[in-house]
Amino acid sequence: MYFKDQNISQGSSQVAKNKVFQKEKFMLENMEFNRAYTHKIELLKLKNNCSSDIKEKEILEEFKKRYKKYREDWHNINDIISNNKNSNTLFQKPLCVDIETASICDLACPHCFREYIVTPDKIMKEGLYLKIMKEVKELQVPSIKLNWRGEPLLNPAIDKFIKIAKENEVIDVSINTNATTLNEEKSLKILNSGLDQIIFSFDGGTKETYEKMRPGRFKKNTFNKIYENIRNFCLLKKKLKKVFPITKIQMVMTKNSRNEVKNFYDLFSDLIDDVVITQYQERGGNMDDILDEQKKKLNDYKDQNNLKELNHYIAKADGELLVSKERRTCDQIYQRLMVTYNGHVGMCCHDWGAKHCIGYLDKDGISSNDKDLKQVYDKTQSKQKGFELLKNIKMPEKFNKPNPIESTLTQIWTGEELKKIRDKHANDKINEIDICKNCTYKNSYHWKKI
Ligand code: SF4
Ligand code: SF4
Repeated sequence: MYFKDQNISQGSSQVAKNKVFQKEKFMLENMEFNRAYTHKIELLKLKNNCSSDIKEKEILEEFKKRYKKYREDWHNINDIISNNKNSNTLFQKPLCVDIETASICDLACPHCFREYIVTPDKIMKEGLYLKIMKEVKELQVPSIKLNWRGEPLLNPAIDKFIKIAKENEVIDVSINTNATTLNEEKSLKILNSGLDQIIFSFDGGTKETYEKMRPGRFKKNTFNKIYENIRNFCLLKKKLKKVFPITKIQMVMTKNSRNEVKNFYDLFSDLIDDVVITQYQERGGNMDDILDEQKKKLNDYKDQNNLKELNHYIAKADGELLVSKERRTCDQIYQRLMVTYNGHVGMCCHDWGAKHCIGYLDKDGISSNDKDLKQVYDKTQSKQKGFELLKNIKMPEKFNKPNPIESTLTQIWTGEELKKIRDKHANDKINEIDICKNCTYKNSYHWKKI
């Protein structure tokens, strides 16, 4: 039996898809091609001088077992939380570590938090990455995503980083990319790196909408070029007969692109394994994402229920509307850790300004943050090239500043900072945490269909 389909991708809610792609089923059925497994076998063969004693089948089953357990824990997290209300760490390790290999991005999408909160133009250094990987291997962290707030393909070592992760036995390694720099050379490197999943972000089913939603920061970004990049990547994968990476593409649904869902599917359904539409989330952009009649329905609900403000909502592609009810313990604080380019650790992927730091993995990175942010902010103020579209960004007003010492992932996972957050969530005090108060993350609410 396989698991139910995963419907949350990095905090965004999937609201429609056009064909059934079961990632977990695929991962299990193709574990023999997973680079974490094949690398382990190669190493054992070398060590044992190519003897045939290696128990390949047992090792393969072990990898499958680890993957299944990880996915079961991921899916059952809310039940596990409810049954262990006062426990600090439900698991000895995070199920996923998100590593910001690049905090720079070459686009300036109007719906992106990067246009409203200052984000440094940096890439992660290899030394810090290797340090993280060492602990990821010791803990047997099953999954990592090699991006958070930036474009991972802008880190020139990204294919090397992926290889290192796979050689450290991470079963599921993925990246989200805007594909602007995915030329043939880079495609080949990525296809040979052992990556398990590549997720393309492509907003719009027409040239007009895409180019409005995804403008370039340093040069014009065009629909045709990015479409070709993605298409060529998929064709090269086919030509090389690669099983991995799984390809996925997602479009954020706005009022404009609501009418382009079919176009979007038509563009990509034959090329890509998994084509999905995700819910627009307010990140400062204040864009229209719903139709007038949906807005009216929400306003009527607000009036009928004497609410001061509109609730958060989810508007599915078929028009179904859900509104948020009371808060619930958020699963992210038990699932994952986020590591910024300079080793600051965050508790979830919704803290776009990396304001609520819960620890540091690198002593040199402790003090670099303010300087790196200021550098970008000053460039926007002096209207430097590449910063014009970032004119609305603000410096975050305040940061959580934990004890300024270098720690390990384990120390942070089991430490006081995260415990304080978990205690507040468990005791219905989620709104006392600034960053959680206005968060729109789906799994931190109960929902009601209206
Ligand atoms: S490509 Fe992604 S990270 Fe870059 S601006 Fe657009 S949404 Fe933000
Ligand atoms: S509720 Fe808090 S911990 Fe959960 S995703 Fe939102 S900001 Fe993060």
